[in-house]
Amino acid sequence: MIYTRYIPTDRIRSMKIYINKDRLSLSAIVERERPDLAITGNFYGPDWKPVCPLKADGQVVEYDPEYAYPALCWDQGPDVTVDVVSKGGLSACQNYIANCAGIYHGQDQPMIFGADVGGRRGRTGWGLKDGALALVAFPDGSDGITPLELRAWAKSQGWNDFILGDGGRKVNYYDREAGTIIEGKDPSQNLILIWLKKEEETPMDGITQRMMTRNPCYTSGRTITTKGVMVHSTATPGIMAQALAQSWDTPTAQAAAHAIVDDTVTLQTLPWTARGGHAGSQAGTANGTHIAFEICEPQECRLLPEEWEPLKRGDTGWAVERLQRELTARGYDPKGIDGSFGPGCDAALRSCQKDLGLEVDGSCGPATLSALADREDSYLAYDPAETQDYFAAAWSHAVALTAHLCETYGLDPMTDVLDHSEGHALGIASNHADVSHWFPRHGRSMDDFRAAVKIALEGEDVSELDTAVDKLSAAGLIDSPDYWKGGDYSADNVKQLLIKWADSL
Ligand SMILES: [Zn+2]
Repeated sequence: MIYTRYIPTDRIRSMKIYINKDRLSLSAIVERERPDLAITGNFYGPDWKPVCPLKADGQVVEYDPEYAYPALCWDQGPDVTVDVVSKGGLSACQNYIANCAGIYHGQDQPMIFGADVGGRRGRTGWGLKDGALALVAFPDGSDGITPLELRAWAKSQGWNDFILGDGGRKVNYYDREAGTIIEGKDPSQNLILIWLKKEEETPMDGITQRMMTRNPCYTSGRTITTKGVMVHSTATPGIMAQALAQSWDTPTAQAAAHAIVDDTVTLQTLPWTARGGHAGSQAGTANGTHIAFEICEPQECRLLPEEWEPLKRGDTGWAVERLQRELTARGYDPKGIDGSFGPGCDAALRSCQKDLGLEVDGSCGPATLSALADREDSYLAYDPAETQDYFAAAWSHAVALTAHLCETYGLDPMTDVLDHSEGHALGIASNHADVSHWFPRHGRSMDDFRAAVKIALEGEDVSELDTAVDKLSAAGLIDSPDYWKGGDYSADNVKQLLIKWADSL
């Protein structure tokens, strides 16, 4: 029995060479990495090192020119590009796995091996067929297959490139969709692991995909039963969407959301039905039920008491500069407004604390912050006017995304959308204050957010509302239908329309 699979490259989300340092079995690797496909890679020597050239994620693991055969070669996405390159093409791509090539670009290649390699046994192979990635596994059995027989088979199937993988007691092959798992008696020294795109990864309008394919929430393959949307804000003020996605795109990341929005972009960072890591590890049952997104907080959110971190000598940065400005405005000289908390700043803060009747400790903790923020135009008070443009842009991205998710997953914006703090109150998320510690600073509540999502959803049928406007106009109830038409059905506008209508009755 020959197991084979052809994968159009646009279905590949991610592909990597797994270096099996711990000599794990295939099932242990599948459990750990959750790939959709796995296949034994190239040969290894008695020292458990690859024999043929191998480069994994930009790192050259092995390069012996004697075995510089053509190689399967690929770069990571957003779109994975797969190719077979001639020997010596190591620098052409980030991942390179060479082995005895049977067919290179349609041409038979010399197959040079001793009797120990060339005999009948189980084998794997990989290559390209009409641009699709091609895999084949012939398990160990009573008869086995020789390299030349396997090449003849690949040729008969129309493969343009065929590279002989490893075999003989170590044919390991896994295909999640087909439900196939073949475990050799021995583990593989290295494997090619492949993750396929999931259906919900089709990009949505206005949403940029930037999947965090290394995050455990992506690689685990765990999914959710979608019951709602949970809205978060980051608590890392000043870090915007691309940078946050970058920092979470590692196997050691402790958290993950499905999307991240800021004032310029909405990023999708996980498949919508992947299990996220946003509601905490203990109480966080919402991880299994909610699609979550983070709204990036501007630098100024550092001034919210819930997010304030005490400042003391040695600290640097934006908040220190604000403290220096505030001390200066109050008549204390911090010896420079440079964002660096030195002895001058320390002395100024202590004098100020003494005059305000605060504990004189040289640390701007919660009590000192509260006292210093209590001045009109204080540099240490969150001023919504400073960030109103940012807030409005991020809010509209968040509303559009939530409306889109409610529509896609049949969710009710009034009952199925909540923030992290509401999730905590319901006992399904950890004890965080977001976003209800921030939205109200801009005069908005989660109820306002849900209402805006509802309007965004229902306002989508503009033609229906335009028809209603025409009717009102024809009945003489409003005089300027053009003013109302074209889709401005924001809450304010609809309210105005109703008032005008009522007045005319
Ligand atoms: Zn949160």
